[in-house]
Amino acid sequence: MSTKLELGIWPRGQQASVRAGKIHCLLGRDTYDLVEAYSHSPHLHFLQCKSDQDLAQFVENWGPIYLTQAQLARGVSEVPIEHYRVLQSWLRAVVYLMDAYRNSVDDNGRECRRYLEVFFLAERLRQHYRKNRAPFTIEEIRFGLQQAELGILSDEPIDSNFRSASEQVSEMVGESELEFGIRVQYEITEDTRSWIQFADLRMVRGAVQTVLRHTSLVLGVYLDCGERGGKPHIEARWTVPSLELALSWMVWYDALNQHSLLFCRECREPFRAGSAHRRKYCSEACGHRVAARKWRNEDLQEKRDQRERERNKGGGYQWHS
Ligand SMILES: [Zn+2]
Repeated sequence: MSTKLELGIWPRGQQASVRAGKIHCLLGRDTYDLVEAYSHSPHLHFLQCKSDQDLAQFVENWGPIYLTQAQLARGVSEVPIEHYRVLQSWLRAVVYLMDAYRNSVDDNGRECRRYLEVFFLAERLRQHYRKNRAPFTIEEIRFGLQQAELGILSDEPIDSNFRSASEQVSEMVGESELEFGIRVQYEITEDTRSWIQFADLRMVRGAVQTVLRHTSLVLGVYLDCGERGGKPHIEARWTVPSLELALSWMVWYDALNQHSLLFCRECREPFRAGSAHRRKYCSEACGHRVAARKWRNEDLQEKRDQRERERNKGGGYQWHS
């Protein structure tokens, strides 16, 4: 492995494994172009990783999310699992918030409220992790990640348990700059979470707009000047210097292509719709499960109604007489 990588070129991993809270791997000789990799949707695979083993498999396919000069020189990478998890939870919150915003007309903004809360939690964790990677914060980070996961995966409306746990995290790590900005803009005096829950939908949507507008997914854009066919040529390009930044860039590039990731209303997993047609569920299995549940509930209701009718028919008048 050479000690220098060309900008935008990334090594795949070899023999990736989970050891003592870190993902270890050797840096393969096989390299790839981070921008060209977009067509294989590594960002979707990343968001779909559940277990630490899934993450190790991701690293084997796409390499570690960041590399230091020393790691590059040694040809070995080790990255704390939390580094992957913090990015995963944040990027997932961004994708879910985008999807929730698009749906916020149909559902009274229920999902906007939920994912704005989850986003602020993920943002706090990310900011905290970046500022302070000392081991004593890892427990807080883990706790916060569990809460973010719960906020995303649970079917129930965000309950008071999530809220108090989320407040606990907030106390430990402090609010993010973005959250502070929203509080100033909307003159929020109570805690952010209560505001999100009870504020007028128009305001909540406005807050989501501001959040998405100020969430930086692309490091930088520039004009690449060179020659093409012997003629001076200028091309608009973006900087994608690491896999970590490439994954965020891909979420942005999806939006540019009007082909963003969606998340399943049934299992809450992210997925990509096969066609331009909007879909609610990731698979036929999830769609069928919802239809079957709906049918079962209607059937139960029908039986209840029937029993009710029979009860009213027999004996009801006698009781009054
Ligand atoms: Zn599903």
